[in-house]
Amino acid sequence: MVEIVLQNIQKNFGDFIAVKNSNLKVKTGEFFVMLGPSGCGKTTTLRMIAGLEIPTSGNIMLDNNNVTSLRASQRDIAFVFQLFALYPHLNVEKNISFPLRMQKMKSSEIKERVREVSQLLRIEHLLKSNVSTLAGGDRQRVALGRAIVRRPAAFLMDEPLGTLDTEFREKMCLELRKLHNRIQATTVYVTHDQTEAMTMGDKIAVMNQGKILQNGTPNEIYSKPRSKFVGSFIGSPSMNFIPIDSAIEKGATSIFIDGNEFNIPEQHEGTIADKNFIGIRPEKMTLSENQGISGEVYASEYLGTRNVLTINTEVGQFKVRVSKDIKVSPLENVKISFDSHSGIIFDGTSDKALQSAYMTI
Ligand code: ATP
Repeated sequence: MVEIVLQNIQKNFGDFIAVKNSNLKVKTGEFFVMLGPSGCGKTTTLRMIAGLEIPTSGNIMLDNNNVTSLRASQRDIAFVFQLFALYPHLNVEKNISFPLRMQKMKSSEIKERVREVSQLLRIEHLLKSNVSTLAGGDRQRVALGRAIVRRPAAFLMDEPLGTLDTEFREKMCLELRKLHNRIQATTVYVTHDQTEAMTMGDKIAVMNQGKILQNGTPNEIYSKPRSKFVGSFIGSPSMNFIPIDSAIEKGATSIFIDGNEFNIPEQHEGTIADKNFIGIRPEKMTLSENQGISGEVYASEYLGTRNVLTINTEVGQFKVRVSKDIKVSPLENVKISFDSHSGIIFDGTSDKALQSAYMTI
């Protein structure tokens, strides 16, 4: 298993910069998720790690060895695609053993490896089946089996669950994670789905427009987003951004929202912009009897263990996660309050977080 390090990696396609000057370290045995919207450069980054794309500048290191100029076949890395091309004319056993046969491995060893992998993935009973007769989840397992059987130094996975329906996806997420816990292979996993990223990743790197905006544990990314983009991309429902009435001075201990004063931790820096935002997670907001931002209930979504309220106010529409026992009806007038110490202030010009977050989850 290897450590993967990207040093100032950049990829240009003509004038277009698909990946901008990115740095990243994936530790040995880590399950590392690259998360971001479509077109942000995730696949290009993965393809550069695999050796399928040559970086315009920067270095790719595997265990301190510079592999930037090595071909894909020289890197000992397995790439699992979303649209995995299984060989339709071969059965499961032959599909899984294919890379070993290409390596001209001894047939007794091939047999042993295929047995081991199919046991691990619980597809022993399918070994003689034709892959074209398999359901989506089983095909995915075969694709994984074919990747694992080589015992590569690392796995790269590009939205491998993308084509599966929700139920299967959730199952496969858990299976993949369990598999990783057993084989502890360094894995870089690309997805645009933040729930998938949060449930699977030891670490997550959030990308947008070719840049890695932040990387850290799911908890760090959730509770200490360093930019408005990261705050809004992670979490469902998304973080609320409430406009603050004025600029924040260095040393400020309170803010005004719609004329109401809220205490905040003392700020060590001020904002450049006049218009700024405080980001509050829906579960850190509550309905209040007398104080807070006035609003009208727009919708109430009952989610079994909790209620998510959408509330329209003079300063925007917000989501509030409340206990399932709180019953409110659309058009009802309410007041929203929140613990401003659990908020993060974002500069309206740079969208960067001013303070380190105080939230805990
Ligand atoms: P998706 O989830 O949609 O695949 P992504 O985050 O993986 O998105 P990339 O596939 O890495 O994004 O693409 C990043 C940007 O680079 C996109 O705007 C894409 O159109 C562009 N791009 C990728 N490959 C090429 C190429 N070979 N030539 C020109 N532009 C490319």
